[in-house]
Amino acid sequence: MKSLNRSLFRRLLIGYLFIFIVGFSLIGIVISISSSNYITDQKRQEMLQQAASINGIIHHSNVVTEEIENTIEQLGQYSGSTIWILDRSGHIVASSSRQDLFVGELMNDDDDIMDDILEGRNRIQVMNIEEEERPMLSVITPWGTNEEIYGGIIVHSPIGGINTTVRNIREIVLWAIISGLVIVSILVSYLSWSISKPLKKVEEAANEIALGNYNKRVEYHEKVPDEIAELLKSFNRMAEKFNEIENERDSLEERRQDFIANISHELRTPLTAMKGFLEALQDGLVKDKESQQKYYSIMYRETEYLNHLVDDLMDLIKLEKREISLDMYYVQVDEVMKKVFLNLENVIKEKGNEVDLNLPNNIPMIVGDSVRLEQIFMNLIHNANKFTKNGIISTEIKIEDSNLIVSISDTGTGIPSYDLDRIWDRFFKVDRQREKKGRGTGLGLAIVKELVGLHKGSITAESELGKGTTFKIRFPIIQSKN
Ligand code: ADP
Repeated sequence: MKSLNRSLFRRLLIGYLFIFIVGFSLIGIVISISSSNYITDQKRQEMLQQAASINGIIHHSNVVTEEIENTIEQLGQYSGSTIWILDRSGHIVASSSRQDLFVGELMNDDDDIMDDILEGRNRIQVMNIEEEERPMLSVITPWGTNEEIYGGIIVHSPIGGINTTVRNIREIVLWAIISGLVIVSILVSYLSWSISKPLKKVEEAANEIALGNYNKRVEYHEKVPDEIAELLKSFNRMAEKFNEIENERDSLEERRQDFIANISHELRTPLTAMKGFLEALQDGLVKDKESQQKYYSIMYRETEYLNHLVDDLMDLIKLEKREISLDMYYVQVDEVMKKVFLNLENVIKEKGNEVDLNLPNNIPMIVGDSVRLEQIFMNLIHNANKFTKNGIISTEIKIEDSNLIVSISDTGTGIPSYDLDRIWDRFFKVDRQREKKGRGTGLGLAIVKELVGLHKGSITAESELGKGTTFKIRFPIIQSKN
């Protein structure tokens, strides 16, 4: 993976540099060719101009006079060129250089130079003149007037001057390219680095996440190119999701472990007690009939408790797994409530409690499962009775907005405020010791909460220690169509 990232950097760098080198080289070649052409062209124009000027000075005469010789000598010195004057037969009759050995010689006419001159045409060509080591650019023009041509004028200028200028330009272009490449290399290195560096970070973070460190995130600066910043953000979002899933899995696992530990505890307590009593009975340690009867009835109670625990557990598991389906119909809640109080009448009386029903007429129906609603109320009223002695258990039904509010209150022991949130937890009991007798499973309210939820309602509890407790259920009222 490491080499992959490095090779990305190298590939980006080489790729960009290759493009720039090719680009710069092409630009350099184009500049040097066009500048060379331009300079040569300029030189030719200049020399043609010079030849035309010489003819302008000497065309009044058809012979080379002393004055003409002086003039071309001065012009030659001034311009740094060699100027020859030819007669019509092609002989060199004068030169800007007085010691010129070519004066009197016949122009080598292999190239039909004289034909062009006599027909009034200009010529430009490179000439290799013996004795002159340097190649010359030569401009040849007719000497004379439009009506009569007396001969030709040749202006020679060494090509070397032009070549030096072109070479200088090429050198400047080359240096410009090299400096450009150095700057571009630095910029390209930075650019490649700014792309490959964050990718490297992603790679490292991904490796850490793969090893289980879900808290790993990639840092990034706003300088990071947009697409890469988006990639880093998405990566962090993905890591966050992993983290959430992992935490959820951990807490689920924790809850599962707690659940199993609680079940084991709840089962072990009655089973251990029953085992002890059975052993005592079996070993004949309990002799009198009355004690035996007492032991049997304790064991019966324990069996009942176990039955109750298993029933509650099955209910809760099914509810949590959404395996319970409700038979939803329009239900008259006050009727269900009355039925529950009737069923518990004796138990309530046993504890010296009074019942106070505040059920107005014309209570609207709600959509619900009457059996499950009965289970909810039964649980709450049973709890109210369990924790109240010689007190009042009351119920009230009223309408608030489009909800039916069902309250069940008692004047019993109450629940400490710090435990109020926990009463909905599975197996939670405020005081385990106190509840030893006639104890519950600690699952009742968890089941109630699930059942209320299935009715699209909500339940809350308010309590004051020593004064009593009120449970409030809010059921949505769905208007019947008829
Ligand atoms: P249990 O089956 O043990 O009653 P619940 O889930 O119904 O379990 O209740 C959880 C705990 O909440 C109870 O053990 C009890 O401590 C407390 N509790 C519930 N209802 C009342 C109440 N009306 N008055 C006082 N405490 C209550």
